[in-house]
Amino acid sequence: MSASQHQNLAIIGHVDHGKSTLVGRLLYETGSIPEHVIEQHREEAEEKGKGGFEFAYVMDNLAEERERGVTIDIAHQEFSTDEYDFTIVDTPGHRDFVKNMITGASQADHAVLVVAADDGVAPQTQEHVFLARTLGIDELIVAVNKMDVVDYEESTYDEVVEEVTQLLNQVQFNTEDASFIPVSAFEGDNVADVSDNTPWYEGETVLEALNTLPEPEPPTDAPLRLPIQDVYTISGIGTVPVGRIETGVMNTGDTVSFQPSDVGGEVKTIEMHHEEVPKAEPGDNVGFNVRGIGKDDIRRGDVCGPADDPPSVAETFQAQIVVMQHPSVITAGYTPVFHAHTAQVACTIESIDQKIDSSSGEVAEEDPDFIQSGDAAVVTIRPQKPLSIEPSSEIPELGSFAIRDMGQTIAAGKVLEVNEK
Ligand code: GDP
Repeated sequence: MSASQHQNLAIIGHVDHGKSTLVGRLLYETGSIPEHVIEQHREEAEEKGKGGFEFAYVMDNLAEERERGVTIDIAHQEFSTDEYDFTIVDTPGHRDFVKNMITGASQADHAVLVVAADDGVAPQTQEHVFLARTLGIDELIVAVNKMDVVDYEESTYDEVVEEVTQLLNQVQFNTEDASFIPVSAFEGDNVADVSDNTPWYEGETVLEALNTLPEPEPPTDAPLRLPIQDVYTISGIGTVPVGRIETGVMNTGDTVSFQPSDVGGEVKTIEMHHEEVPKAEPGDNVGFNVRGIGKDDIRRGDVCGPADDPPSVAETFQAQIVVMQHPSVITAGYTPVFHAHTAQVACTIESIDQKIDSSSGEVAEEDPDFIQSGDAAVVTIRPQKPLSIEPSSEIPELGSFAIRDMGQTIAAGKVLEVNEK
């Protein structure tokens, strides 16, 4: 099954609704935890006379990691189904969630939304669904989790499904492409095996739903775009920018340009997993060295691309945004912080050009005076410092952003057009 196609999966949902537990369950059910590890725990558990041990082991391990402050607790775990090899991409952690959504979920092909049956739609459920939609995830598997806590009641399940459906409609997710599954990640109901506890449910298990996801889109033939995460100085090598290649390919010997810093040179070496490589591709995390570039010439938020097709730098750009939550109204002149790839730049909403009817996608009002929570709009934005960003239609990976203010995500959007300097 190693020739299977690869899928990047995001697990989203409100804190404590069971994301880690579901990932643990998926790893366990797909045999992704080494047998000797399970065996060891089985013996320990038997000595102590406890049942349900193997799964408990996985969860203990994840819990332990979390206590040690390991941030990538469930991210980058891998498991395989009959159809696909899945990698869990950076899942929104409790703190750095916006950054993770922008740099993580944008590379996810699909997402599993976990909603606890005893709690229903909660603030982060809304926030994650909204961002997943804006960042280009089309297909959702909705796991209505903790069914054991609500005694596997069909009516409770139906209420949650109704609530989630409303939320999906609100952000224009196609609910026909969403599958809803009553599960208990903890007990294992409807994850790998059809549960006897939900005789009223006739749909797929989570693993079946994962198997029937559509194949991921092939990579685009966009030019190299590598947002810079950090810049190091390493003795013997010199300046080493690091980051993940979003699109295109980098070869040693290529002549590259960093924007908006507007410097460039020839790629001397590329390093990945502590080894030198001649070439790197989308998804690769690399450190590299460019002839003549010093540590202070470039910075986090720069984007590296080919010198003959350099990253765009926006004087202004037009974008479609959806306002998720704002205590009052947004008017022209509002200047919050925009988070796009690895950049964080204050930008002014210079004009609100059109209000869009979010159910039909049609223009509801030209030049509205203000927009508020729940509104979609086309706006013109002026970065207060140079910002490299691309039209979403050309390079979707570099064409989305989140707007943050007062410690929360106010809105998210997609770039329609970039007006360069
Ligand atoms: P996360 O914050 O979304 O990753 O949530 P966790 O996976 O850490 O789960 C939060 C708590 O809910 C933990 O105490 C889990 O043991 C518990 N939990 C998760 N899934 C289930 C479930 O299906 N049934 C029950 N009863 N508890 C669950």
